[in-house]
Amino acid sequence: MHRAHDYRFLIQRWRSLARSAGMRLERLVTVGKSDLFCLRTPELGAEGGIYISAGIHGDEAGSTEALVTWAEENVSRLRTLPLLLFPCLNPWGLIRNCRFAENGDDLNRVFHRDEIPLVQAVKKAVGDRRFAVSLMLHEDYDGQGLYLYEVQRKLPFWGEALLEAARPVIPIEGRVRVDGRKAAAGIMRPKVDFRRFAKIGYPEAVWLHLDHSDRTFTVETPSEFALSQRVAAHRAVIDECVRRVISGQE
Ligand SMILES: [Zn+2]
Repeated sequence: MHRAHDYRFLIQRWRSLARSAGMRLERLVTVGKSDLFCLRTPELGAEGGIYISAGIHGDEAGSTEALVTWAEENVSRLRTLPLLLFPCLNPWGLIRNCRFAENGDDLNRVFHRDEIPLVQAVKKAVGDRRFAVSLMLHEDYDGQGLYLYEVQRKLPFWGEALLEAARPVIPIEGRVRVDGRKAAAGIMRPKVDFRRFAKIGYPEAVWLHLDHSDRTFTVETPSEFALSQRVAAHRAVIDECVRRVISGQE
């Protein structure tokens, strides 16, 4: 039996790894009965760091499990990396295996609404920072392989290399249409369509792309695959991003 939906256990693991790394998990805000947290490393400056969040959709437990597992495995060097990590943005949903927040909001459509406590808290933690890379970890129950969204901006694109890094553990998505959008070899490269987002609401990735991030990726593992595979795939993508940022790769 695994405990991927046990939020208290998840936060225990984060507290423990933060302590081992000589840091403190910071409480961001209390939403309902749950405290939300972030981990900010001392290396994180105003520019060039890495933003990673998981669990904004509560039925995507591979994302939260992957981020904590990656952090545990990198505990000895965590302090030396420029990171802002959000272990789980929707505890209520994670506990109930539900995509939405308690009031029915899809939290990945409300990043234009600063009055929402979660949005306010994440924006406060980010401040004026500009990240080299932002990674949003997600899962898709229709997924047949790993795929990602890379918002168009910096060249060369990194999407292919990120998928390639995870290919030993999960095949690349073969569908050519995903959620009504064209996909090619597991990659979707949307341009930000303001009219569309005015209608459906702002995802976390759009807010980051517009104001805070040079490269913005939404990474989707297929949630019908084994948890261990989904975790390994997300970890491989995180590793490749960190490697590229640390080595100054363009
Ligand atoms: Zn999702």
